[in-house]
Amino acid sequence: MLQWMRIVCASSPEEGQNKGGALVEQGELRSAGGVEYTLIRKRVKNLTLRLAPDGSVRVSAPLRAGAASVDAFVAAHADWVKRAEARHRATEAARAALAPPEKDQCLALFKEVSDGVFPRFEKVLGGKKPVIKVRDMRTRWGSCHPAKRQITLAARLALQPPAAIEYVVVHEYCHFVHPDHQAGFWALVESILPDWKARRALLRNPR
Ligand SMILES: [Zn+2]
Repeated sequence: MLQWMRIVCASSPEEGQNKGGALVEQGELRSAGGVEYTLIRKRVKNLTLRLAPDGSVRVSAPLRAGAASVDAFVAAHADWVKRAEARHRATEAARAALAPPEKDQCLALFKEVSDGVFPRFEKVLGGKKPVIKVRDMRTRWGSCHPAKRQITLAARLALQPPAAIEYVVVHEYCHFVHPDHQAGFWALVESILPDWKARRALLRNPR
């Protein structure tokens, strides 16, 4: 009897134990209870139902298990599969929504903002635009390296509202004048962006 079921998480290390080395496990495509699944026969004792990282449903079954009984088993767990698929789609959508654009797109955006801020700092910088860099930073939006005339911005900043991006760029430019966060620094920020506090409040947690 095929009563025992093991459900394997898509990110489980078992995914990597495909000893044949093939990227795609060979199996029979079947449908049961509204669930399309790939039946893979193996030298195993139990049925394993899992959602693969690509979202497809895989069922490993003992070599001699009857296809009809596997179908019945899948159909009996159709609700679980539907919920797992919905969770998988939601996770993928969330991941896509959180992923920042490609680095060169971020750079193009940040340079455009920087070019708008630059004229205010042209004299301080001796007429040379700062070097803008993009990095995957999780704990800060930006940093400034005055000696290198360089501003580094987090790729995730590209996902923030334009007013907030401008605030971060202005903030980093102001470090060319004041390397610290003393009163003089904030006075300079405020002289350029009187509404800087509201802009800063738009920044969501970078993590
Ligand atoms: Zn700062």
